Amino acid sequence: MSARIIDGTAIAAQVRAEVAARVAAFTARAGRQPGLAIVLVGDRPDSQVYVRSKLKMADEAGLDADVSTLPATTSLEQVLETVRRLNASPFVDAVLVQSPLPDALGASAMQQVFDIIDPSKDVDGVTPENVGRLVQNRAALVACTPAGVIEMLERSAVPIAGAHAVVIGRSEIVGKPISLLLLHRNATVTICHSRTKDLETIAASADILVAALGRPGFVRRPFVKKGATVVDVGINRLTDAVAAADLLGAGSERFQAFQKRGSVLVGDVHPEVAEVAGALTPVPGGVGPMTIAMVLANTLRAAENREAGVVGSR
Ligand code: NAP
Repeated sequence: MSARIIDGTAIAAQVRAEVAARVAAFTARAGRQPGLAIVLVGDRPDSQVYVRSKLKMADEAGLDADVSTLPATTSLEQVLETVRRLNASPFVDAVLVQSPLPDALGASAMQQVFDIIDPSKDVDGVTPENVGRLVQNRAALVACTPAGVIEMLERSAVPIAGAHAVVIGRSEIVGKPISLLLLHRNATVTICHSRTKDLETIAASADILVAALGRPGFVRRPFVKKGATVVDVGINRLTDAVAAADLLGAGSERFQAFQKRGSVLVGDVHPEVAEVAGALTPVPGGVGPMTIAMVLANTLRAAENREAGVVGSR
């Protein structure tokens, strides 16, 4: 048996088309486009790629998207000042600070930036106010990757209520919010992390297994119950030929692509899991495109909420 592939690229295209229709209606009504402002600090190639694709997709959906680029040598105060300026702009509905920030800004820099984003413009649901609202199940803006995971599961008719969901990873931006969203949809949720004992056995009891740990191919066949739905959130760039051949198979098309490019993106789930899972999100083409689609959806939502004078409850 081979798992049904949950096609994130196709579902994301559907979400973006729906967003584009509502953006057109908003623009006609409000006399302006919903505005998305991205802050990019430093020159990490992967962050530049992510930001470029967000801008392109935002443009295609009819949003007014712009990026403020700051050099890697910028000070934390300059980043905070940029966010304050965007908070104050009447044309900006959504503010997204691309993570990670340069290490030189200090370990608490990201949190300090999150703390000052206007909650009504907090497109990735990172402010304490929006995290609190998520805990209380009355979120206005939910972190984009977790929201994308739920959208994929729901649009693929994966039953969540009553299911045992195991989430591997407890980060603020991925593991914790995914766990809460699953809980609010009446899954029974187990959250695992680097100190969890007997992770394999716990994972193998899941009806829905979410891998969000950032370890290439970590989730192997024994971690997965036959027929389970497996969501692979991981995005890991492999540059080592031995590791790539080991994970992808030396004769595979993906390994040939690796040999041409010198790197390949892989998830946290080993390809052999396809033989036992009931449904599986691929990497690439799974959660990644959904994250971008949810950035657009949340920008529109922020614009609509601000237009209606709503800050939080739904
Ligand atoms: P993170 O902040 O590094 O958190 C990783 C989590 O995994 C931590 O909670 C850590 O546990 C846990 N973990 C690490 N090694 C483990 C192990 N051996 N066994 C069990 N748990 C382990 O990472 P993140 O930001 O959540 O991202 C996770 C992955 O998702 C990365 O590959 C990232 O690139 C990807 N990602 C993808 C998207 C997308 O759009 N598809 C968006 C965001 C992130 P501790 O808490 O105990 O340290």
